[in-house]
Amino acid sequence: MQNPPDLRPDLARARITETQRDGQPTIGMVSLGCPKALVDSERILTRLRAEGYGISADYSGADAVVVNTCGFLDSAKAESLEAIGEALNENGRVIVTGCLGAEPEYITGAHPKVLAVTGPHQYEQVLDAVHAAVPPSPDPFVDLLPASGVSLTPRHYSYLKISEGCNHKCKFCIIPDMRGKLVSRPQKAVLREAEKLVEAGVRELLVISQDTSAYGTDWKDRDEKFPFLSLAKDLGELGAWVRMHYVYPYPHVREAIPLMAEGKILPYLDIPFQHAHPDTLRRMARPAAAERTLDEIRAWRSACPDITLRSTFIVGYPGETEAEFQHLLDWMDEAQLDRVGCFQYENVDGARSNALPDHVPEEIKQERWERFMEKAQAISEAKLAAKVGTVMDVIVDDVDEDGIATCRTKADAPEIDGNLFIDEGAEALNPGDIVTVEVDEASDYDLWGQLKG
Ligand code: SF4
Repeated sequence: MQNPPDLRPDLARARITETQRDGQPTIGMVSLGCPKALVDSERILTRLRAEGYGISADYSGADAVVVNTCGFLDSAKAESLEAIGEALNENGRVIVTGCLGAEPEYITGAHPKVLAVTGPHQYEQVLDAVHAAVPPSPDPFVDLLPASGVSLTPRHYSYLKISEGCNHKCKFCIIPDMRGKLVSRPQKAVLREAEKLVEAGVRELLVISQDTSAYGTDWKDRDEKFPFLSLAKDLGELGAWVRMHYVYPYPHVREAIPLMAEGKILPYLDIPFQHAHPDTLRRMARPAAAERTLDEIRAWRSACPDITLRSTFIVGYPGETEAEFQHLLDWMDEAQLDRVGCFQYENVDGARSNALPDHVPEEIKQERWERFMEKAQAISEAKLAAKVGTVMDVIVDDVDEDGIATCRTKADAPEIDGNLFIDEGAEALNPGDIVTVEVDEASDYDLWGQLKG
C-alpha cells in the first residue's frame, strides 16, 4: 500500500469555463503525476489556448487528446498506459508527453496507434504534434490569453516551478535520467511569473522543483552562493502565501527560517527525508545524507517555533534491517514531524537500487509501513489536538451548497495535507478568502473552527 490516491495531485482535468466558437479546433488534456507535471500541462494548455485552440474537459468534445504521463514508479507507468488506452478508446487521436515519453518504445509497444510521443518539457514538440494532428485556427478577437494562463489548479493558488532536473543520483530515482541535470530558471523570469500570478488573483504560490534549496547553484557566474535565499526573500515581498516544497536539509536552509518567523514566507517546509538511518541514506545515495538532520530541525524550530515540517519516507528499502527501521521510528519520536507520507519501496525500471542485495520481503514492508503510519498518525493527532483553542488565519478553498467551507491553515499544502472546516456562517465566503478562525475540534488529520470577527 502507498499513499491513498486522494493524497496525490494527479488526474487533473482542465477547468475551462468559456464557451467555444463554431469550428474551433479543440484539444483534451489528461495530466497524470506530480505537481511538476501539472505545471508542464498548464504550460502546454496556455500555449494551445494562445494559439486559438479550445480546451475540452472531456474526450468526446476534443479533436485530439494530450496525455501527460508519469513514469516515476512502475505502478505510475501502468497507470499512464491505462490512461493512454482509455483516451484511444474514447477519442482515438492521442499525443503522449511527459516522463514516460522518455521511453517511446514502451508506449508504442503497448499502444501502436498513438499519433506522437514526446518527452518531458518538450513543449515545442508537443505543440508540433498537436499542429500536425489538428491544425490551429486562431481568432485574434476571441482568443485572448487569460492573464495568468490556463490553470489546472483552482485560481487562488498556483504552482511555481523554479528549476528543472536534478544533480543528485539517488539510487531509487530515475528522474535525473529522464529530466537531466539541474537547470534553474532565471530569477527575473520566476519573479515575473509570480508577480503576474499574484496580480491575477493568486493568493498562494507553491514553489516546486526537484531540489528547491539547490536553486541557482547551476549558474556559473552567480553573485550569491545560494540564490534560493534571495529568491525566497523576493517572493516573500509579493504579499501572497509562499510555500516551499522539496527542500533538502542543507545548512544554508537555516538562513531562510527568519523569513518564516517574520511572516514573509509560510512557516512550512516540505523536506523529503526518505529515511533517518545513516546507512540506509548512504545506500540510497541521498543528498544531505551526512547532515545531522535532528540538529537542523531543532535549529529551525528554535528560530521559528510555529514551523510545520512535512516529509515523505520509504520503508523496506533494499538492505533495511529491523534495527535501521527501528532507528527511523525512534528518529520520528524525536523529530515530531507534523505531516508525513510513506511509501513502500518498489523497484522502478532503470533504477540502480534494483540491483542492491537483500531486498525486503513484501510482508515485512507492509508490516513496517503499518508501524510507521501508526506512529505518524499518533504524532499528527497530538499536534492537531494541541491546536484546539488557538486562533489562526486560514485560506478558503471551497464553499459547498450547504455552506460548509473547506479551508487550509498555513500548515496545510493543497492536495497533500489536511483541511480546516468551517460549518457555520461560512455562506458568504469565497475561494481565496483569507479569514481568521478559532479552532474548536481536531481529528487525526483535520481541524474544525469558527469564524472570528
Ligand atoms: S534528489 Fe534524488 S529523489 Fe530527488 S529528483 Fe534528485 S535524484 Fe531523484
